[in-house]
Amino acid sequence: MKVTEHIAKGNGKTQFSFEILPPLKGQNIQSIFDSIDPLMEFKPPFIDVTYHREEYVYKEMENGLLQKKIVKKRPGTVGICAAIQNKYQVDAIPHILCGGFTKEDTENFLIDLDFLGIDNVMALRGDAVKTETYFTPEKEGHNYALGLVQQIAALNRGEYLDEDIQNQAQTDFCIGVAGYPEKHIEAPNMDSDIHFLKKKLKHGASYIVTQMFFDNEKFFNFVNKCREEGITAPIIPGLKPISTKKQLNLIPHRFFTDLPEELIKEVLKCSNNQEVREVGVEWCVQQSKELIAEKVPFLHYYSMGRSDNIRSIAEQLF
Ligand code: FAD
Repeated sequence: MKVTEHIAKGNGKTQFSFEILPPLKGQNIQSIFDSIDPLMEFKPPFIDVTYHREEYVYKEMENGLLQKKIVKKRPGTVGICAAIQNKYQVDAIPHILCGGFTKEDTENFLIDLDFLGIDNVMALRGDAVKTETYFTPEKEGHNYALGLVQQIAALNRGEYLDEDIQNQAQTDFCIGVAGYPEKHIEAPNMDSDIHFLKKKLKHGASYIVTQMFFDNEKFFNFVNKCREEGITAPIIPGLKPISTKKQLNLIPHRFFTDLPEELIKEVLKCSNNQEVREVGVEWCVQQSKELIAEKVPFLHYYSMGRSDNIRSIAEQLF
């Protein structure tokens, strides 16, 4: 079922959903089930599965020279989605990137997803590979998520890259896109970021999931600004409970998200990470309660491979 249909079915009630990461190469599917099982009693209508592009690593050879290797540390997005739909009978939403994909790769990826009975995709540009400063698309790929959205929307109309393809079966994907309550790092300002967000919706996306934020005011301002600009699509807030002291530096660095002074103070008072987890859960519960009061359609939690703190939050809310 499409995310937009789940929202309609929710009848104004805030529902629970979450995102998982494929495990590091070498682990088996059971590690994924172990992180999903504790969350299923809160009845998520869908689960997102992130996509991780290749990375370049340099390996020292016997002669002392460095050899550049391309590795994918977290493969398995499509397989995990199929396994989730099969085991739990809930919708799995694969993330699909511009980065590392030609348009042809994208088309073939979408055909696989369609054959697996996947109804939703989250269309993203992806970040630069770790060894590069700026995002570089594949030669025959998309520069921005907008191009990806347009390609998915075209396939929904039965338009393939090769016009001579016979039959031209239509797909019917519901397309989600990313939004940034604190603006995307590369956007010169919020107005510009929302301008391009609006384009993604105009060209076929149906809902927005936001980057994590720790101050609800930022989310409410973002929603107001989107509505002022004529964006009517559902906006799903993404939340992450802080769980280690290290994240005080890691989260702003990686996600370009501010942490409120009060949260930082509480985390710094903690003498171990168990205490940090409790602070993180409490903060996230308070954020969630306020968002539920504002009738957001879903609360979407970033589990990042651990579900115990998401479970503690869900127990108090759903
Ligand atoms: P875009 O919408 O393409 O925007 C990128 C930047 O370009 C923005 O600053 C925008 O304002 C600007 N822009 C857009 N269109 C144009 C244009 N036509 N001309 C000029 N500027 C333009 N990353 C992963 O690798 N895997 C994942 O699974 C993943 N999941 C995510 C899930 C969510 C909910 C979010 C919020 C992010 C996720 N990311 C993921 C991170 C995401 O890939 C990065 O934030 C990336 O840098 C931007 O992706 P985007 O789709 O927002 O890009």
